[in-house]
Amino acid sequence: MGEGREVSGEYGVDDPMKRHRKNIVVGNWKMNKSTADAEDLASDLCRDLAELRDVDVVLCPPFTSLQAVGKVIENTLVRLGAQNMHEENGGAFTGEISAAMLRDLYCHYVILGHSERRQYCNETDCDVNAKVKAALAATLIPIMCVGETSEERKEGKTEEIIKRQIEGGLDGINDGLGGLIIAYEPVWAIGTGDTATPEQAQEVHEFIRTLLQTLLGNDVAGATRIQYGGSVKPDNAEALMVQPDIDGGLIGGASLEARAFVEIVKSAIPKKIPDYKEDDAPPVPR
Ligand code: PEP
Repeated sequence: MGEGREVSGEYGVDDPMKRHRKNIVVGNWKMNKSTADAEDLASDLCRDLAELRDVDVVLCPPFTSLQAVGKVIENTLVRLGAQNMHEENGGAFTGEISAAMLRDLYCHYVILGHSERRQYCNETDCDVNAKVKAALAATLIPIMCVGETSEERKEGKTEEIIKRQIEGGLDGINDGLGGLIIAYEPVWAIGTGDTATPEQAQEVHEFIRTLLQTLLGNDVAGATRIQYGGSVKPDNAEALMVQPDIDGGLIGGASLEARAFVEIVKSAIPKKIPDYKEDDAPPVPR
């Protein structure tokens, strides 16, 4: 992999496409919080983030709290996301949740292919691809996670793994990505406190954007938001967010504490006037 592009200027880089992409920060609450605790956290976050226009903010509570959190964030700019879904529309799939059910609860986003699901639930690129297609068909915006393990990185296989996961996850999707977001989450950085350096993260994000260029063309590659995830905390967030190809963060542990999450979101506010208009944001029907 080549060196990451040098960061320059207040915004990180004078790259017109970077200034065109609105940063997005997503809180993945994983299997945490009772409904009452989830409502409390969402209310605390809304005090600071309800009217924030410069960064898209998404909360992904467990399924059991989606409705309650949805009510708390109603009439704010904060959006709701789920942590997984099944690829079928409905039927005999005990314990599963469909895209239509998530839309019914006013979800706009869904995390797909998180490394914990790949690792513990044996989800394959093919499974992720089926879910991405089902999400897009239901006008849910997929947040498709990719990332290498520490062994794969040590063996120099990072690009190979990312390429396989992206080509597999996007297989057969040729008519635009419907606002799909890619989350680069090195497995070795998730929940470990061992975050990627801004340079390591930028290097992989640049690789992903170049790959998207080859697969889907310049316009899609330039418009697609690529988030970084893996032990993002208030003290390391800004250095990551200003990288030219990093367009926000997928936050696990630090999203469970209101003050930390708000600080991370604020670190994603652009320092220069961005080029996007409100109309550029993906459609968010409610
Ligand atoms: C995640 O699970 O998506 C994640 C990035 O977790 P953490 O921030 O805790 O590393």
